[in-house]
Amino acid sequence: MRQPLLDGFGRQARKLRLSVTDRCNFRCSFCMPQNPVWLPHSEILTYEEMARLVKILSSMGVGKIRLTGGEPLMRKDLDILVRLLKDIEGVESISLTTNGYLLAGMTEKLREAGLESVTVSLHSLKPERFESIVGRKDVFSHVLDGIKAASKAGLKPVKINCVVTRGCNDDEVIDFVELARSSGLVVRFIEYMPFDGQKFWSTKLVVTGREILEAISRVYGLVELPREAGSTSRVFRFRDGSPGEVNIITSISQPFCSDCDRIRMTADGKIVPCLFSRDEYDIKPLLRSGSSDEELERFIRDAFRRKSPGVEYMLNRGHIPQHVRPMYTLGG
Ligand code: SAM
Ligand code: SF4
Repeated sequence: MRQPLLDGFGRQARKLRLSVTDRCNFRCSFCMPQNPVWLPHSEILTYEEMARLVKILSSMGVGKIRLTGGEPLMRKDLDILVRLLKDIEGVESISLTTNGYLLAGMTEKLREAGLESVTVSLHSLKPERFESIVGRKDVFSHVLDGIKAASKAGLKPVKINCVVTRGCNDDEVIDFVELARSSGLVVRFIEYMPFDGQKFWSTKLVVTGREILEAISRVYGLVELPREAGSTSRVFRFRDGSPGEVNIITSISQPFCSDCDRIRMTADGKIVPCLFSRDEYDIKPLLRSGSSDEELERFIRDAFRRKSPGVEYMLNRGHIPQHVRPMYTLGG
């Protein structure tokens, strides 16, 4: 391995969130603007360009790749990208975050190509409410089919992402916990972050991890596992030994920036060292003008060195996190 990829605070990048498209077939209220303007196709990196950058990143120790979007399954033949990435030396795992709508028909292909695990976003177990949150009708059963197909195909783990917003779905926490217990799935409760397309986020709408834990603990005993370095989540199992897992992503109330090990890339080749910062570094001009791998590596190192300390730093100084960019433009 070459020198690890380090930021100015000594944090090492080990995980890449790679957005493969900004397009999406859903319109989640906490993510999309009402009339999104998509990137032109010509601006979006090809699979070969993405694989070249992943090769450079993995040679610096960034081995865990998560494909995201927009909706990554909207990108044609995603299995081709998975296969390209799987063959790269230093790539340890490839996972996917999806809204699940197109998943059922693609799980086998993706697993054969080398996809290991999948996270499906499911914000309500009530079909009508779910469809109102994601702004699309007749989609709920497709998402459930996707989750079942992923488990059946042997993708492991299968996780559920549930963004909890006050007054919308916070009355369903226990229902989700019961889903985890009955199915063995990992249910991840995510605090609502200020990255909505319509900019109606406010701290009042954030249901904190603490509130979620209190609600669960009134019904089920939980045991917290030791936190893995770099992890965004607190991980809990059930005290009574029941299957399933609960993860709490406290990005707003208790962020873990001090050992953050992520680097992000937009579908059009912008390197984004920190989710909570506007800073982004466009590598596409270099990539498309015949630059060598060494030049690309230098660009990535320079960009990553400037990674901001993160939201934890802001909160410690009494700042409320601000809207940075809508989530669909970068991926979670
Ligand atoms: N389209 C895919 C999906 O929905 O799973 C992948 C991209 S989506 C931007 C990645 C994750 O970010 C999803 O789990 C989504 O629910 C979450 N997300 C979107 N907007 C959010 C927000 N404002 N706060 C917290 N999580 C958000
Ligand atoms: Fe699409 Fe995912 Fe954003 Fe929902 S959260 S609008 S599914 S990108």
